[in-house]
Amino acid sequence: MINPSQTQLVALLDSFTTTSGTTSAPLFRRLGAVADRLGIECYVVGGFVRDIFLESPSKDVDIVVVGSGIAMAEAFAAELGRGAHLSVFRNFGTAQIKWKGTEIEFVGARKESYTHDSRKPVCEDGTLADDQNRRDFTINAMAISLNAHRYGELVDPFDGRHDLADGIVATPLDPDITFSDDPLRMLRCVRFATRLRFVIEDETFEALGRNRERIRIVSAERIIDELNKIMLTEQPSRGFVELHRCGLLEIILPELAALDLVETRNGRSHKNNFYHTLEVLDNVAAASQKLFLRWAALLHDIGKPQSKRWELPAGWTFHNHNYLGAKKIPDLFRRLKLPMDERMKYVRKLVNLHMRPIAIADDGVTDSAVRRLLFEAGDDIDDLMLLCEADITTGNEIRKKGFLNNFRTVRRKLVEIEEKDRIRNFQPPVGGEEIMRRFALPPGPAVGALKSSLKDAVLDGVIPNDYEAALAYLREKARKMGLSETPEPAENKTAAES
Ligand code: ATP
Ligand code: MG
Repeated sequence: MINPSQTQLVALLDSFTTTSGTTSAPLFRRLGAVADRLGIECYVVGGFVRDIFLESPSKDVDIVVVGSGIAMAEAFAAELGRGAHLSVFRNFGTAQIKWKGTEIEFVGARKESYTHDSRKPVCEDGTLADDQNRRDFTINAMAISLNAHRYGELVDPFDGRHDLADGIVATPLDPDITFSDDPLRMLRCVRFATRLRFVIEDETFEALGRNRERIRIVSAERIIDELNKIMLTEQPSRGFVELHRCGLLEIILPELAALDLVETRNGRSHKNNFYHTLEVLDNVAAASQKLFLRWAALLHDIGKPQSKRWELPAGWTFHNHNYLGAKKIPDLFRRLKLPMDERMKYVRKLVNLHMRPIAIADDGVTDSAVRRLLFEAGDDIDDLMLLCEADITTGNEIRKKGFLNNFRTVRRKLVEIEEKDRIRNFQPPVGGEEIMRRFALPPGPAVGALKSSLKDAVLDGVIPNDYEAALAYLREKARKMGLSETPEPAENKTAAES
């Protein structure tokens, strides 16, 4: 809805209702009535208003009053009665009410001034206009009055409605000031443009480039929060293209910016791995909402610059780029303040294994190669296969068909082998403890050697994946290594354990 009349806005506002006991009343009318009682101006503002116009109403309501936001929140919580949960943040002069799945934030209108080295402003009380001036984008700076005598009146000093209709992200004031004051807004700018599929207005875009170095005063936590939001949009590549065009990517994620390079020798060029990566990312995003699968897609080729060689007759090669890329993941996660737990390991694993299914398909799909792949990928095998299919970005339809055919073979074989050998969460049928007991070995290389030869024997299909076969195999190995088996007690122990 681009140009609603005040009557339409009133109807929209009134569609949000609250129920207390048996009476049901429009939420915003009740807010207006409380503000009237306190004798203060009250508006709904920001993202909520934007989303009303976009006809995708959100559950987060931002209220600004000309006066004390906390006093307003306290009065409104009392009005709602039981079921309303009030939190007051005195340091920030803000308050929040949680009410049946809706979150209402209250703040007093303020005027801000910034110091050079911090994105935290010094605030003083201000008018609604002051408050709108300090907002990040024209589309986020609209307010609708809630006091009874002006109920439903839109206050839109920067013509946010037109930018919304035209699909434009622009700052309300001089973008150099807006971005330099709080550089996080640069990432918010890209985030909104990506999520809404909007274009960044020219002046605003140029200011992104001029102020990009200011991003360094923003904490890694806030940066990753925005990057994750960009990652979770429908077509995340749009955001990364913008970040790269304005030079922010080079600062935040240089490993990715470094992929934007095409080298030519003897008339032979390799592909541009930056745009290839973004295609893979979008392919994955179209198939899965998983944030860290998307991260794996974004990072799957970051080992390429380091591994690039010119080798005849092949031409450009990237041997081991998956391995070199995987090695970079822990440091990169630490720096970006991404989680260092199993989510990091998951991304590292997918990056490391992302060439494997293709290699298997190329070499002819043997049982033992498939067993090894299943063993290493474990429960992430389906995500890995999805990533690998997303990685096929060739425009050549015949080549593409060929690849997809090979993958189908790999997939079929994966199912077949898993049914037969249950390798997914494979544990060798005889463990290290038992090996040490049986052959009276202290912890050390001999135990390791026995364990890994047993693992290989199962994965290579030399013996079946069961206890009796494993024990027989180990006995034979141990005998060749000159080890003798300790009799009875160990036998009993294992029987009791298993
Ligand atoms: P969403 O919640 O969907 O991500 P939003 O626009 O509601 O989008 P919030 O971060 O919830 O974003 O902020 C609410 C409003 O506060 C914004 O619409 C904007 O007016 C203002 N705002 C938030 N962060 C900033 C900022 N860093 N600089 C200026 N204004 C901001
Ligand atoms: Mg919000």
